[in-house]
Amino acid sequence: MLIGQTAIVTGASSGIGAGVAKALGAAGANVVVNYAGHAEGANHVVRQIKDGDGSAFAVRADVGSEADVRGMFQVACETYGTVDILVSNAGVQQDAPFLDMTLEQWNRVLRINLTGAFLCAREAAREFIRRGIIRERSCAAGKIIFISSVHEIIPWAGHVNYAASKGGINLFMKSIAQELGLYKIRVNSIAPGAIKTPINRTAWETPEAEANLLKLIRYGRIGEPVDIAKAAVWLASDESDYVHGTSLIVDGGMTLYPGFSTGG
Ligand code: NAD
Repeated sequence: MLIGQTAIVTGASSGIGAGVAKALGAAGANVVVNYAGHAEGANHVVRQIKDGDGSAFAVRADVGSEADVRGMFQVACETYGTVDILVSNAGVQQDAPFLDMTLEQWNRVLRINLTGAFLCAREAAREFIRRGIIRERSCAAGKIIFISSVHEIIPWAGHVNYAASKGGINLFMKSIAQELGLYKIRVNSIAPGAIKTPINRTAWETPEAEANLLKLIRYGRIGEPVDIAKAAVWLASDESDYVHGTSLIVDGGMTLYPGFSTGG
C-alpha cells in the first residue's frame, strides 16, 4: 500500500507512535523512528519493522528544536532520498490545576505538542514541494498527519496546557491544509480518545481507574495503539485521497458525551 514511500514518525519509541511506525512499516513504507531520550525503545521498534522485512532506522531529535528537526529530515533524505509521509505524534502532558500551573509546565507542553508539530510539518511541506508528485508512488506530493486528541474538542480541567496545545493543533492543521492543498499535500489529524499507553497509565492501570475511564467510553473498551495505527495507514495512503483538512476522531464514542446517554 505504501511501498517505496518514506515516513517519519515522531515520538515513535513508545505508545501510539510505536504502533503507527510498525503499521506503516508493515504497509511497505520505509520508516524513520524518531525518539527524544533513550534509544532502546526506538531500536526495538526498528528491529520489529525489520523482522517483518521492512526498512527502518532510529533518529534522536527533540521536535521542539529547529536544528534537531532539520537534522532529522536531512538524514531521512540522505538515507531514503525523500520523505513522503509525516506523522507528527510526539506529545507530553504536564498536569496541574490552573492556579498552580507554572510557566515551565505551560511552555514545555506547548513547545513539544504545538511548536514541535509546526517545525516538523514545515520541514515536511518544504521537502514535499521540492520533490513534487511521483505518480507511481502516490497521487499526493505528501501527507501530513497530526496525532491530536479528543481534547481538541473536550475541555479538560487540570490539563489546560495540554487541551490548549491540542485545540491549537486543530486550527493549525486546518489552516495549513488551506495553504498546502494547491501543492497536492494532504493534511489531516487523528484525534484519539483513551488509548492504553505510558502517557495515561494512571487512568487505566488499576481496576478502579479502568472502571472509571470506561464510563467515558460508549463502545466499552479502552483503545490500543493499533486502533490509531490503522487509521494512520489509511490517511497516509491514496485510499483517503479526497480526505483533506479533517480531524478523524478515533475514540470509541468518547466525544458522544456518554454522561448524557440517560438524559441531561
Ligand atoms: P507516549 O508517552 O507513549 O508517547 C509520547 C512520545 O513522545 C514518547 O515516545 C516520548 O518520548 C515522545 N516525546 C516526548 N517529547 C519529545 C520531544 N521533545 N521530541 C520527540 N519526541 C518526544 O504516549 P502516547 O499516548 O503514545 O502519545 C502519543 C501522542 O498521542 C501524543 O501526542 C498524545 O498527546 C496523543 N494522544 C494520546 C492519547 C492516549 O490516550 N494515549 C489520547 C489522545 C492523544
